[in-house]
Amino acid sequence: MTYVYRFGGGVSDGGKGDKNLLGGKGANLAEMASIGLPVPPGFTISTEMCTRYYEDGEQFPQTLRDEVAEGIAHIEAVTEKRFGDPTNPLLVSVRSGARVSMPGMMDTVLNLGLNDETVEGLAKAADDERFAWDSYRRFIQMYADVVLELDHGAFEEALEIAKEDNGFTLDTEMSAADWKTLVAQYKALVEEQWGKPFPQDVHDQLWGAVGAVFGSWQSERAKVYRRLNDIPANWGTAVNVQAMVFGNMGDTSATGVAFTRDPSKGDRAYYGEFLINAQGEDVVAGIRTPQYLTKAAREEAGAKPASMEEAMPEVYGELAAVFDQLENHYRDMQDIEFTVEQAKLWMLQTRSGKRTAKAALKIAVDMANEGLITREEAILRVDPAALDQLLHPTLDPEAKRDVLTKGLPASPGAASGKVVFDADTAEKRAAAGEAVILVRVETSPEDIHGMHAAKGILTARGGMTSHAAVVARGMGRPCVSGAGSLAISAKDKVLRCAGREVREGDTLTIDGASGEVMVGEVATVQPELAGDFGTLMEWADEVRRLKVRANAETPLDCKTAREFGAEGVGLCRTEHMFFEGSRITAVRQMILASDEKGRRAALDRLLPEQRSDFTAIFEVMAGLPVTVRLLDPPLHEFLPHEEAEFAEVAQAAGLDVDTLKRRANELHEFNPMLGHRGCRLGVTYPEIYEMQARAIFEAAIDVAEKSGEAPIPEVMIPLVATRRELELMKAVVDKAAKLVFAERGREVDYLVGTMIELPRAALKAGEIAEVGEFFSFGTNDLTQTTLGVSRDDAARFLGAYVEQGIYAKDPFVSLDVEGVGELVSLAAERGRATRGDIKLGICGEHGGDPASIAFCEQVGLDYVSASPYRVPIARLAAAQAALKR
Ligand code: ADP
Ligand code: MG
Ligand code: MG
Repeated sequence: MTYVYRFGGGVSDGGKGDKNLLGGKGANLAEMASIGLPVPPGFTISTEMCTRYYEDGEQFPQTLRDEVAEGIAHIEAVTEKRFGDPTNPLLVSVRSGARVSMPGMMDTVLNLGLNDETVEGLAKAADDERFAWDSYRRFIQMYADVVLELDHGAFEEALEIAKEDNGFTLDTEMSAADWKTLVAQYKALVEEQWGKPFPQDVHDQLWGAVGAVFGSWQSERAKVYRRLNDIPANWGTAVNVQAMVFGNMGDTSATGVAFTRDPSKGDRAYYGEFLINAQGEDVVAGIRTPQYLTKAAREEAGAKPASMEEAMPEVYGELAAVFDQLENHYRDMQDIEFTVEQAKLWMLQTRSGKRTAKAALKIAVDMANEGLITREEAILRVDPAALDQLLHPTLDPEAKRDVLTKGLPASPGAASGKVVFDADTAEKRAAAGEAVILVRVETSPEDIHGMHAAKGILTARGGMTSHAAVVARGMGRPCVSGAGSLAISAKDKVLRCAGREVREGDTLTIDGASGEVMVGEVATVQPELAGDFGTLMEWADEVRRLKVRANAETPLDCKTAREFGAEGVGLCRTEHMFFEGSRITAVRQMILASDEKGRRAALDRLLPEQRSDFTAIFEVMAGLPVTVRLLDPPLHEFLPHEEAEFAEVAQAAGLDVDTLKRRANELHEFNPMLGHRGCRLGVTYPEIYEMQARAIFEAAIDVAEKSGEAPIPEVMIPLVATRRELELMKAVVDKAAKLVFAERGREVDYLVGTMIELPRAALKAGEIAEVGEFFSFGTNDLTQTTLGVSRDDAARFLGAYVEQGIYAKDPFVSLDVEGVGELVSLAAERGRATRGDIKLGICGEHGGDPASIAFCEQVGLDYVSASPYRVPIARLAAAQAALKR
């Protein structure tokens, strides 16, 4: 046969390797049958048929009709029943099943094959009228709902009224006669809504259901789900047709669902629910409260109704043995569906169970320790991205929440604090020891110090790649962005939303993982790298080749990074240091000075401050490499805006306000991203880099003298396009080093290198490597400059680009391997050709993205650098990348 694959009764045309062809459900049913488990016989119509169905204009070929007839004959032979036979009728279920489980696909239809004649036959064969009519009413209701797509409310209502009229509360109280009456009403409802009588021909019923499964592949819901989850439309779905087994044949029958381990905590304990005298969907539908599977779980929950272990000890014993067999066979935790028909166990589904990040860690480590899988497999079992859930303070799930509104989940973690509406107040209040939430319409680079000081950031505008979102993720600060229903007035220090007012000093809680904004404080729980998490990290470290560093620019960030296992700092930005406290006035004085002398006077004031910044960082990172990037942003970002600020600078510089304002105007740029920034600052005002280099070397020697262990500064020159730029800037740095070393009578090891963030630099990497001792790929800017897309403005169109498949993913989140990646590998190659031992790393947002890390492994970079909270993710992703090579 071409499209139909049989299973059960000693036959298995397929197996677990055939997921693409048979869908997950079909492949695993065949597999379970082939290892001797009790599976009701059936057959699977392959996904290839689905594709052909659409190619042929939604028609079934005659060959399929013949093959399905053979499939039915197979089921008839095994069950010794006949489809549509009035005395001994075969009933089947029709179940959809794509490669991956997919909401939006047609729901299962049970009890197919019942009509006004076969229902009598079923009643006689089972010697149970009530059971037969219960099955028939279930069938009509399900078929009307999922195949005919009629309004199911009317059917539910009819059942409710019938129960009410009889004074019943439970379905189980309905008698055979009651069900008969309801069936008549259901048939009338179908005819009324559908315009035709309920199909009595069992073959019409079957083809109607099969067509509905294929039809649901192109339903709107399925399409949306595919788009969101990158599932290609040509995968198609399979259809499973399977003999019914009955969990609704009295008190020795039941149906249930189970996991072989606890999917939320990962404990090694069977976990599940069952219902006596019920069919499939009753368990999930919540019509009756299901009972626990195990005695232990029932006791722990303090529940009365007997567990399956107690109520059906024999079948339970069999089931437990099947759990173990399946886990050993699949070597993974299984999610299982089963039915018991008059004390006989039947298996209806198995698949690898979905689990929380916490459970994934525990199950992987436990299974490796049990010898079920190897350590390498354990490393590969855990999705690095899922660890994010565990690496931030999270809301205590038990705590009460008063939700105000919802925005975008821009940066994970939860935070509570007093609301402030500007960065300076955030800094002031934080310095005074208060937890604050910075609330802005949107953030800009001037808010960085406030974002640093805040526990969390909330904005009314901006998407997942807005300034607030990107910076917050980098800092590991929880952030909710684009909460559009907030009306924020920074001037009046108030926000309004849903008829409520929140003022400065009032407490808000944000959950950056869900986007929820709550009034008041909600308790949180802290992350930890202990237990199974710690164990898996150790195993990962044994196999990974890439080093992992952190992007960190404060001692606190550095501490967090080291606790999470960072092996150095890959990017220490220095600009935020220029905003802090009273320094901004000196910085402004430096920028607005009309000559070198004026600039040097201001720089002299900044030197000790800058040195103490580096000392604090080097103390934490002693013995490890620290890449310090010299000043990078356009100078105008530091300029004063308010009258008072101008006055303050005028006084400090001994100049009048008008002169200052004129000078500030001169600094205006049309396109600052491509303007006077990066090493262009150093080329025009070398004294700035000279001061920074001096601060770095003095701090390094201070720390070496104090602790006996020197950090290894790697001085990074930003935005280099040519060899000559780097040559000039390296001379400035080397000269500062020489002077400091002579003054102090002591030296430290250091490197001078550059960020590769312009296409020209990547192309000319061979020449640049003659001067530079390391390259760090600044993939944020390299993406902007290669794609010609401004990260801050991309939100408006990037969504459409990703939706239409122009870029597979947001290129600012996951490296555009084809384009930007080609520049990276080319630069790595050319750099190495010139300087064999050149150190290569990556420090963009991509350094914490598992797919991008896999690319870095392929290109053979030496390290990746990620935000401190993503360091464990990067360690695991690097290990997986090494194993997959
Ligand atoms: P889903 O993908 O939504 O889980 P399934 O196809 O697994 O849908 O069907 C849901 C439930 O229907 C099953 O868990 C099982 O209880 C019941 N079911 C499906 N096929 C049969 C069958 N042949 N006999 C008895 N019950 C069945
Ligand atoms: Mg379903
Ligand atoms: Mg199922």
